[in-house]
Amino acid sequence: MARLNDNYCKLKAGYLFPEIARRVNAFCEADPDGKARLIRCGIGDVTEPLPPAAIAALHAAADELATRDTFRGYGPEQGYPFLRAAIAQNDYRDRGIEIADDEIFVSDGSKCDCANILDILGDQNHFAIPDPVYPVYADTNVMAGHTGAAAPDGAFAGLTYLAGNAENGFVPPPPTTGKIDVAYLCFPNNPTGAVATRAQLAEWVAYALANDVLLLFDAAYEAYIQDPTLPRSIYEIEGARRCAIEFRSFSKNGGFTGVRCAFTVVPKELTATTADGTRLPLHGLWLRRMTTKFNGTAYIVQRAAEALYTPQGKAQVAALVAHYTGNAAILRQAAATAGLRVFGGENAPYIWASAPDGLSSWEFFDKMLTDANVVITPGSGFGRAGEGWFRISAFNSRKNATEVARRLADLLKTNAG
Ligand code: PLP
Repeated sequence: MARLNDNYCKLKAGYLFPEIARRVNAFCEADPDGKARLIRCGIGDVTEPLPPAAIAALHAAADELATRDTFRGYGPEQGYPFLRAAIAQNDYRDRGIEIADDEIFVSDGSKCDCANILDILGDQNHFAIPDPVYPVYADTNVMAGHTGAAAPDGAFAGLTYLAGNAENGFVPPPPTTGKIDVAYLCFPNNPTGAVATRAQLAEWVAYALANDVLLLFDAAYEAYIQDPTLPRSIYEIEGARRCAIEFRSFSKNGGFTGVRCAFTVVPKELTATTADGTRLPLHGLWLRRMTTKFNGTAYIVQRAAEALYTPQGKAQVAALVAHYTGNAAILRQAAATAGLRVFGGENAPYIWASAPDGLSSWEFFDKMLTDANVVITPGSGFGRAGEGWFRISAFNSRKNATEVARRLADLLKTNAG
């Protein structure tokens, strides 16, 4: 008799995005006019075409596969040297951060990397997770059996939640009580758009070094940081090479959500302990994990990612980011003018705002759907600390972003009147 993984049964049935899809489908069936006006700002997927440099590289790489001399089969599981070198040079060494090419591990997505990292960490660890945050961290810990059941408010027993709120600007500080072994950090944050300052990140690194805590730093939205004083990588902080793994993605800078390419940085000094207390580097374990369970990201995709680092590629990525950042500014302005408390949208493609009139996140979601025909994301779907808040994604055309801003203003005016 095959036993299933009982931990999956602990996951909340109404996972955020399926529940959004269910409500949107029901609305579209009931209101065909509303359906025609519908604008989706719910899911954080990009909308604009790939940079031309990436398209050209995809075509050229595909042509290489057409002749025996240049054909490629399996590549190195950890990524082709040309891409690892381009990443280490451009994203790190050119910014004064010492990262070696072989500390970069190329993959087909940060979602998988954030989830798979648990393979090399012991189940005895106590994990801390920001709240609100990208739901993958909590859910993969549930799947791995690191938690008990969910409480009615959705919090899982056995995890430490790091609460973000308006008072701490949605940048939770390190915990002052209780022992944790591993902490996830996500800056710029999904969903709040908050970014830790250098001092705040330094506090986390100092805490991690003093308490022997491993930091899992998700920088998927790093490209959206406009303020030059904000850190883009945790390795900008002294000592982080000894306590942090960093995840990055080409999804939100190069628009690769459908192309699939990302990478994880595992510095060679980073260690964790075995059962008998011996310290061993995590680098070798992650290499072993990748070579055993992964067969590499497609050659043509890695060539496309490499093209993002050419001068043309960089300019095109900057234009894409500027497009979405422009949308974010319009949406942020509309929410602020309507009197909502607003975070994010300046160094991130997400606007995080308080639901008006004491409405819950889902109540305001329904109101936006039925009255403004706009799909937003309820903040409570990202953790209990997100209750009463909502996220608007700036991943859209300029026309749609402007229209959403107009409808939000109208709705809240009607509301006030
Ligand atoms: N990390 C965060 C914080 C995200 O919001 C997302 C996607 O929305 C990802 C990772 C996933 O990135 P990828 O497309 O590389 O899997």
